[in-house]
Amino acid sequence: MDWVDGNQLGGVLQEIFAVDLTGARGACAGCGRPETVGQARVYPHAPGLVARCPGCQGVLLRVVRGGGRAWLDLRGLTYLEIAMPEATGP
Ligand SMILES: [Zn+2]
Repeated sequence: MDWVDGNQLGGVLQEIFAVDLTGARGACAGCGRPETVGQARVYPHAPGLVARCPGCQGVLLRVVRGGGRAWLDLRGLTYLEIAMPEATGP
């Protein structure tokens, strides 16, 4: 097996977004399958991390780090649904 589960994305995505996204639900742009980030298949031996859909194997997202920057390619997701606390205040 050359992939690990999407929980491997938790650390780098939490660094970028300052929230844990492994429980966020997204839909695959290829097949429409809704899954959490943690359910993706992550291939850690590509340049950066490549997360693929467990249904159709399409690329959901790619994360590359280097030189004090991170590049995040989300084109394989039609949306990402993130649990947030209710907004308070004005
Ligand atoms: Zn898919």
